[in-house]
Amino acid sequence: MDYKFNREAIQKALDEKGVNRPCVRCGEGRKFLFDGFSRYNLFDSLGDNINDEGSVPIVLVACANCGAITPHAAYALISKEEMEGGDNGE
Ligand SMILES: [Zn+2]
Repeated sequence: MDYKFNREAIQKALDEKGVNRPCVRCGEGRKFLFDGFSRYNLFDSLGDNINDEGSVPIVLVACANCGAITPHAAYALISKEEMEGGDNGE
């Protein structure tokens, strides 16, 4: 399964889920969505330095004033139908 980053669809999902409050750090209202997915690595133990257990895809929203970055799990923002559609026109 592949899903290319679709800024319009992801921004729409963020808006629909109410991700529109001012920055939790500085209170500023302007924010932006980074163009692309990132990932959080998952580890089975704290001693692991090499990630081979998996990861969680995320999108990142940053405050345009202070730069605080908030991660959102991509799977919460992209519908199953969109993901199964494969080619999303990008
Ligand atoms: Zn801020």
